[in-house]
Amino acid sequence: MDPSLNPIPSPARPPAIGEVVEEGFVEEIRDDRTGEIHQSSAFLRQELRGLNLLRAEQEDLLRAGTPRFRCSCCEVGVTLRLSKLRRWHFRHIEEDGSCRYKTKGTLSQDDFDARRYNGQKESPQHIRMKGLIRDSLHADGSFDSESILEEVRWRGQVKPGTWKIPDIQAIRNGTRIAFEIQLSSTYVNVMRERRMFYLAEGGLLFWVLTRLHEGDRRQFQDDILYPNNCNVFAIDEETKALSWTNAELTMRCGYLEPVREGWELRERWCERLVTLSELTLDLKNQRVFYFDYEKSRAEIEDSLRILDGANVLDGFTALLQAKANQETDQLDKWRSFKHTLPQVFKWPFDLYGGGFFVALDIYLSARSGHPVGWNYQALIQSAHRCVDIHPELLPFLEDCFRAFGRSAIFSDKRYAEKWEKKRAKAVAEAIAKPETKVHLARLRHYQPAMEWLMPEARRGIALTLAQLDSV
Ligand SMILES: [Zn+2]
Repeated sequence: MDPSLNPIPSPARPPAIGEVVEEGFVEEIRDDRTGEIHQSSAFLRQELRGLNLLRAEQEDLLRAGTPRFRCSCCEVGVTLRLSKLRRWHFRHIEEDGSCRYKTKGTLSQDDFDARRYNGQKESPQHIRMKGLIRDSLHADGSFDSESILEEVRWRGQVKPGTWKIPDIQAIRNGTRIAFEIQLSSTYVNVMRERRMFYLAEGGLLFWVLTRLHEGDRRQFQDDILYPNNCNVFAIDEETKALSWTNAELTMRCGYLEPVREGWELRERWCERLVTLSELTLDLKNQRVFYFDYEKSRAEIEDSLRILDGANVLDGFTALLQAKANQETDQLDKWRSFKHTLPQVFKWPFDLYGGGFFVALDIYLSARSGHPVGWNYQALIQSAHRCVDIHPELLPFLEDCFRAFGRSAIFSDKRYAEKWEKKRAKAVAEAIAKPETKVHLARLRHYQPAMEWLMPEARRGIALTLAQLDSV
């Protein structure tokens, strides 16, 4: 298709991070998968992509009666919601007033959207959209024209007795596709429930928007975008005309594209006209995408830490092992290794760096699942050693363990009691010890280097350094 029809991508930005509400939410949650208790405000300060994927997954699990996240106080399942100001929080799925956390009465963005658009299902816009999709499909010979149906019941074959009425449905090369118009009035749980139905039936759910929203990104678009490999689609008068010109279903696609800028991963919003044959139809995951965000992101993340064909983390692992073995030339090793690293970052002069190497040790240990430095046998020993010598690194340590799925160790019966005591001591010492401030002030110099080396622990780095303002 004529590339001049496509708008210029927007400038690349760091991946968006969720904002968190300040009151009226479940302050502490338990992750049943790891057994770990999280402060909601710290847990929710992560990438919007991660939050939206967790929101979708939790909706499915709540429906199945096996929520992953529960209120730590009353054990009731919680949902991830947004406030009117688009701030994230956890809310009880049902509330009888017995829990110390009161979340009732706070109107979420979901309620707000639903109220604002209430009754729009049969609006003129909805009727017009159905016509546009139907006419676009008739332009495309790959759809069996007899199979293009509007608001006709799709009866469950796998689960008899269940049914859905998609806005438009059609069969293409033996695949039955349900086209649903997202007019922002649909709750995320309803969206997930439809997804489950079509997945079970071997069909494909295809969400269509009336237009793409970039500047005024809306949650109803994000609910489609993130679980759909960061792609969304819209159909309008212009794409309908193009469908007839191309004799193939043509749509507007909006997607996020990860890009590498220097030593950083960023992403930008792109829009382009796409035809159906350019898309990947991923029935197993109920996804339809033009651009493979996940694949592209993984490639960039891998490439970011490769220098001259070698992974920089392997170099640090070797260095920490030399340190653990008290090799006499460890400092020389560091100084020559340092010259191979990107010089845009500041690097510690010696093997101290305000806890830089301890942080790196914890990161590499959590990442591999085995202690890297200190010649320990068990991961929990590394955790104890870290908070003994650098109690201020506790938030970083916990974030690393979470990022690599190692948090269960803290609630393991063998270690839980001792760890809880040590943790409480670390929290107190981080505030009381005068040298803490010195360490953190030094460590702050290396924040960009740490974020580059340990992107999965970005939040832990920020939380750790934030203590500098409070101690
Ligand atoms: Zn509760």
